[in-house]
Amino acid sequence: MIVDLRSDTVTRPTAAMLEAMTSADVGDDVYGEDPSVNALEAEAAALFGKEAAVFTPTGSMANQIGLQLLVRPGDELLCDVKAHVVNFEMGAAAALGGISSRTWTSANGRLDTALVEPMINRPHPYSTTTRAIAVENTHNMGGGTVQPIEELRALRALADAHDLGLHLDGARIWNAHAASGVPLSEYGALFDTVSVCLSKGLGAPVGSLLIADAERIERARVIRKRLGGGMRQAGFLAAAGRYALANNIERLADDHVRARHLARSLEPFGVCEAAQVETNIVLLRVRDIAQVARAAAEQGVLVSVLGPDWGRMVTHLDVDDAGIEHAVKVLGTLVR
Ligand SMILES: *Cc1c(COP(=O)(O)O)cnc(C)c1O
Repeated sequence: MIVDLRSDTVTRPTAAMLEAMTSADVGDDVYGEDPSVNALEAEAAALFGKEAAVFTPTGSMANQIGLQLLVRPGDELLCDVKAHVVNFEMGAAAALGGISSRTWTSANGRLDTALVEPMINRPHPYSTTTRAIAVENTHNMGGGTVQPIEELRALRALADAHDLGLHLDGARIWNAHAASGVPLSEYGALFDTVSVCLSKGLGAPVGSLLIADAERIERARVIRKRLGGGMRQAGFLAAAGRYALANNIERLADDHVRARHLARSLEPFGVCEAAQVETNIVLLRVRDIAQVARAAAEQGVLVSVLGPDWGRMVTHLDVDDAGIEHAVKVLGTLVR
């Protein structure tokens, strides 16, 4: 038995999803002629109460297009110190967008608007002008943290007061929605640009979207093509995404139950805190985790090593109850 808890990106398409893909209607999406891509973009925009969306190969591309729409070269983005946009996108904001970034530090990646406000630089003869703020929800490196809706509302008010753009890195917004019950449209209403990922918990093999108003998405298509993200018969991939949106959002609650169960079972060994598990991510604190991860892998349990003494486990639709029990048994023995 292989229980792959490294990430929710490791899911493989089911037979039903593959069937949806092979029967998709397709055309050339660079000409705007792929009916499946057009349908996916319209459905995703509608879910978030926005006018339009653009399909991208990756979440990193969706994020970077969003940031380029909100921040001009030489201007500044504010985000969390552990944000995906500044840590795991190969410096793209600086390298490709000319965007300067400054970060705040918060517990578990949880947004605290009071920390953000004093960081904002107004246009001024000798300071870098802040143009946008990016928020990750759920927060990956924070441990799947759900951003409180009141805090997001406060951030919107702050952004409006300072005429700033707000970008949501919503790679796991589906998990935030499943955990909080906040409608996706409510999240959508608070942000100017929203990136969402279809290839994590939702189980599609490839694909993300950037969602915004129609004028921004028109510009987004230009930036996507510039980045090499114009795809042709992408409808085969979009069909997987449409299947995922229709079938795999509600079931994320099961992943959250399994993550909590996993954390509760390992908590007695002092390696994780069940109370901190809000969604599908469990952070592990283990001395010499690389060695523990190697030993666990020999018994079919895969976890991510993130540092010398910390790692991550993520539940997803390819991990069932039996897989969780196996992981508990194997890891429980190793960290005892
Ligand atoms: C996975 C992820 C992304 C997108 O990653 P890609 O691998 O480029 O699709 C963006 N933000 C967060 C928080 C993520 O976890």
